[in-house]
Amino acid sequence: VNPSHPAYSKNALDRRSGERNQPGWYEAQLDKAGARFAVFSGDKLVMHAGPAGSGGIKWFTRSELPTLMGNVPPVFLGADTSETAHFAAQAENDEAAAGNGLVALDVRSIALQGLVPAHDLGLIAQARSLLHWHSRHRFCANCGGTTSAGDAGYKRSCEACGAEHFPRTDPVAIMAIVRESNMLLGRSSRFAENMFSTLAGFVEPGETAEDAVRREVFEETAIRVGRVDYVMSQPWPFPANLMLGMVGEALSEEITIDPEELADARWFSFDEVRMMNTRTHPGNAVVPPDISIAWHLIRHVLDTRG
Ligand SMILES: [Zn+2]
Repeated sequence: VNPSHPAYSKNALDRRSGERNQPGWYEAQLDKAGARFAVFSGDKLVMHAGPAGSGGIKWFTRSELPTLMGNVPPVFLGADTSETAHFAAQAENDEAAAGNGLVALDVRSIALQGLVPAHDLGLIAQARSLLHWHSRHRFCANCGGTTSAGDAGYKRSCEACGAEHFPRTDPVAIMAIVRESNMLLGRSSRFAENMFSTLAGFVEPGETAEDAVRREVFEETAIRVGRVDYVMSQPWPFPANLMLGMVGEALSEEITIDPEELADARWFSFDEVRMMNTRTHPGNAVVPPDISIAWHLIRHVLDTRG
């Protein structure tokens, strides 16, 4: 597998963001013949069972929908080129996938196992992030009142104080740090054995993405970073992050790891990184799988500087 884009970054649907807040528009889409619904059971998507779960997304018709979570109506994902309206819905319980050749699978496994085409992963990420937000924002953060969904699922309004709440996307800086022909990679204790990846951390309020790169790298490894260049981004629906992939130039070499954040961090030569990618590294070190933006950032560095 050698995709040209990270997982979850391709989405063929037209979100109709300029129309979906018009009165009656959402209801008209719901009523359309052929409207189809992806159903989540908890954080898992209901799929057709098949060899290794490879039967693809189970698209429900409106009349087939299971009982949905209270106060979380279907959210509009977008329309395809034949104007078919696509929605995502949150089942109230886990019976949605019971029997009938269906199975509920977590979104990471669907990507890792390549169970759907790349353009379906984008709408799956959109659906999971939106539904996760709805299921956890049924009450107003301002006054505690009950909120209700509007704008086809892209807003919740408080029935008591009128405050409007919008779906979150939390930016995370992820960075390949380079010095001459070497790359800084680290591993957390949560990682699979021998896996080294690019460092990453949440962008804080009032901070540029570039400064988040410099701050996180210094906190975790004591390496100073100068120039930072943006490369690519990836929606990461666990639950609603936007990974901002960047390359940074190191200004120093000596690593002092923060043991709270990292189990290890090292400089690897580009030749070593190539071996890590082909799983031929003499120390058995490996890089993350190619669904990740980390893999694509690493490949970008090797392609442009290797
Ligand atoms: Zn309120």
